[in-house]
Amino acid sequence: MSLPARVKRAIDELRTQRQEPLCAYLYDLEALGQHVRQMRALLPGNCELFYAAKANPEAAILQTLAPLVDGFEAASGGELRWLYQQCPQQPLIFGGPGKLDSELAAAMDCRVAAFHVESLNELRRLARIAESSGRPAPVLLRLNLKLAEAPDSRLVMGGKPTPFGLDEEALEQALLLLRDEPWLQLQGLHFHLLSHQLDVAAHLKLMRGYFRTFHRLCAEHQLELPLLNVGGGMGIDYRNPQHSFDWPRFCQGLHRLIVEEGMGDIRIRFEIGRFISAACGYYLMEVLDIKRNHGEYFAIGRGGTHHFRTPAAQGHDHPFVIVRTEQPAEVHDQPVTLVGQLCTPKDVLARQQPVAALAVGDLLVFPLAGAYAWNISHRDFLMHEPPQMLFLSPE
Ligand SMILES: *Cc1c(COP(=O)(O)O)cnc(C)c1O
Repeated sequence: MSLPARVKRAIDELRTQRQEPLCAYLYDLEALGQHVRQMRALLPGNCELFYAAKANPEAAILQTLAPLVDGFEAASGGELRWLYQQCPQQPLIFGGPGKLDSELAAAMDCRVAAFHVESLNELRRLARIAESSGRPAPVLLRLNLKLAEAPDSRLVMGGKPTPFGLDEEALEQALLLLRDEPWLQLQGLHFHLLSHQLDVAAHLKLMRGYFRTFHRLCAEHQLELPLLNVGGGMGIDYRNPQHSFDWPRFCQGLHRLIVEEGMGDIRIRFEIGRFISAACGYYLMEVLDIKRNHGEYFAIGRGGTHHFRTPAAQGHDHPFVIVRTEQPAEVHDQPVTLVGQLCTPKDVLARQQPVAALAVGDLLVFPLAGAYAWNISHRDFLMHEPPQMLFLSPE
């Protein structure tokens, strides 16, 4: 694995300016823009691409994406408030379990483009809140489907008991409620069953299941719905990045599938987080110390899992690139464990990795750190300084 020239140049520049050992997040906004433009270009014409902000809600990321996506998904009242501040012109959609009345009311005030309703209670509460705001609420019912093609992924959120979405059995009741409720406008259905999907064929099979279920439910309940939200969940293979979800191949299959399953007249909405923003982020740690302990080498970098929890959260050895200084190497051709500054043995970013040459002052650069990274980290633990946040803007 190597670093893009633009990123390498930025790192070299940072180094010449640094007063203290480096510890930073670096975001390549140009790469982010290019990536999402390519993603959009390959999607069939009746598909929309929303960004799920919970993957990374940094203002610069949102602003880079705003002109390139169809809108943003908020998974909490806090995210919704933030998105509305940052991108008030963009369509916002609002999902997540356990929404407060005050959040539903705030979402009415932001004129969200869709409420993803997760339960019957929520539907009833939303009806009253819409009524008192004097405007109807656009609704997508989120369903936890039982599919024959049950997904098999590490982060399954449906197809089995979970707190997400309505049971198919509850749909009848939800529809009765909606029929009597002038303040609720049913626009479509929402299915998001999993994350970390790496297998294109399996995902297309899941989409086929979604499309057939959508048609079946519409027929069974005499519904004409214009919109199906199919969630996100395209995966990054952190152990083997070139085996990440193959978006171009998926889109090829999707074109065919839409024709085969008669979905051409339905708007199909994706709300994708990880696969959009993961690749634009890098976490940088300067090596503070190298030691041998009970026969194994450890490199201690400035920072750690309190900034970059992704490898600890996912249980993988995160890939990395070493940017060397002129210093003679202290370690040659040895397995080295890369750790941070925390006083816990869990503060490991990669274990026993082959390293050709390493010295104090070298930089450890962890790519694929743009999603579920800084924002999922327990940043106050041990009260270390936060990382620098650096954004490479398009030239
Ligand atoms: C988290 C989430 C997403 C985005 O998932 P990714 O794996 O980041 O693409 C989309 N929809 C819902 C409902 C989610 O909870």
